Amino acid sequence: MDIRVGGGYSMSNFWFGEGIRKGKKTERFPFAPPEEPPERPSRMEGSGEPYCPTQAIKDGKWDAGRCIFCRFCEPGYTPTGKQDIFKVNRTEPVLKKSFYIYKLDSGACGACNVELETIFDPQYDANRLNIFITNSPRHADAIVVMGVHTDGMKEALKNAYEAMPEPKLIISMGACSISGGIIGESPIGREKYHVEIAGCPPSPYTILEALARARGD
Ligand code: SF4
Ligand code: SF4
Repeated sequence: MDIRVGGGYSMSNFWFGEGIRKGKKTERFPFAPPEEPPERPSRMEGSGEPYCPTQAIKDGKWDAGRCIFCRFCEPGYTPTGKQDIFKVNRTEPVLKKSFYIYKLDSGACGACNVELETIFDPQYDANRLNIFITNSPRHADAIVVMGVHTDGMKEALKNAYEAMPEPKLIISMGACSISGGIIGESPIGREKYHVEIAGCPPSPYTILEALARARGD
């Protein structure tokens, strides 16, 4: 498509034309199956006790919150493509119409941050599910903790949590935050998290569905 303004091309017109050419990109997920589910991260299934650097496989059971999807255990264990690798311990139905999340990077590598931002892209469009991001914990319904929780961020996490109004959820995102991943221990203890979103980093599908379930969808 040729779009010319004032006798020349403009980048904004180019992208406008591209948008029309490609059509609507937003998926219906979680109301329909994911259109492009990644193989990793996804639910791993298998048997035996293969070597696992994070002890994600113990007594024949796979712990999503410890898995960094390094593939050491394959082919004994293989990814299924299923994106349901999250755990919701508490729901807040009051957040169905408006759910603001505040992200706290407590020592992440950056990949978890990128995937969390991705849920607001046109393909996933978390806003259509009334999920929004805020830069202030005072406006937040949930804090999403990423990373291994460095000493310097302990006070920041405490202050942010105390500044949030009730009801408030603590969401742990990524293997680092849930269990310490390859580096160490869970920063504040898994029993304290209301929601765990597994992956290294988690896929946008897993994040979206976990957030939806956290408010009782
Ligand atoms: S992919 Fe890596 S971290 Fe995950 S269970 Fe297999 S060996 Fe463990
Ligand atoms: S869980 Fe993986 S992707 Fe997320 S911060 Fe840790 S190393 Fe990075």
